[in-house]
Amino acid sequence: MKHIPRRRFGQNFLVSPGVVRNIVDAIAPRRSDTVVEIGPGLGALTEPLLAGVDRLHVVEIDRDLIARLRESFPPERLVIHEGDALEFDFGSLGGGLRIVGNLPYNISTPLLFHLAGFAGQVRDMHFMLQKEVVDRMVAAPGGGDYGRLSVMLQYRFDMERLFVVPPGAFNPAPKVDSAIVRLLPRPAAALTLRDEARFARIVMAAFSQRRKMLRNTLRDWFAEADLAALGIAPTARAEELAVADYVALANSP
Ligand code: SAM
Repeated sequence: MKHIPRRRFGQNFLVSPGVVRNIVDAIAPRRSDTVVEIGPGLGALTEPLLAGVDRLHVVEIDRDLIARLRESFPPERLVIHEGDALEFDFGSLGGGLRIVGNLPYNISTPLLFHLAGFAGQVRDMHFMLQKEVVDRMVAAPGGGDYGRLSVMLQYRFDMERLFVVPPGAFNPAPKVDSAIVRLLPRPAAALTLRDEARFARIVMAAFSQRRKMLRNTLRDWFAEADLAALGIAPTARAEELAVADYVALANSP
């Protein structure tokens, strides 16, 4: 029976063999890798990934799709984790994880934040996302794309936009361009934050009113002299600060 794509699960299925090939080539799986696919759907990526690894983990929320996957692949090769990726404990699968997926766009930001919490167990991640989201993830300071998502993810990951994918590569076709992004966890020595929750709150406050000067948005944390002592102009705006500046702010008493 034909599966009718469910909008509430962000179902836009890949139908371009060329794009599928490019994604799998970018991932370059090895047989013993622990690969985890989020949202296998109808298996566009699942099948070629399985050709390259001994065993593949998938996390899928749609029960109809899970039933199809069970019919198509033997359980010793495809390990199906039924449920919401937003609540899935990726750490339970061990370390060195290679997480991949053509992600449901409606939950992409919370999912990225959830995944960031497992960075210590991750070797790399490759995701298809809305191009606009990828551009925000990889943005450098100074432009309109640079925001909370950029700072929070760039602290944990080195990220690269690999290629853009047009709407015609999917069924149904989304309204926007998509892109593939690669995330590589930064080495532990580069993670110098003393209090990640404080960092998150400061970044959130700074970008909550991004047109305002930091001396106003960060008033509850820092006096103008505190900012100046860290080499940060009190008149600067959130988008002008590098990730290292936010780390310095969070680490200062
Ligand atoms: N990988 C397939 C492909 O490329 O054709 C499907 C991609 S589709 C954009 C997103 C997939 O994620 C769907 O299979 C959908 O059911 C699944 N999904 C949506 N929300 C999810 C969630 N919260 N947890 C796990 N899977 C989810």
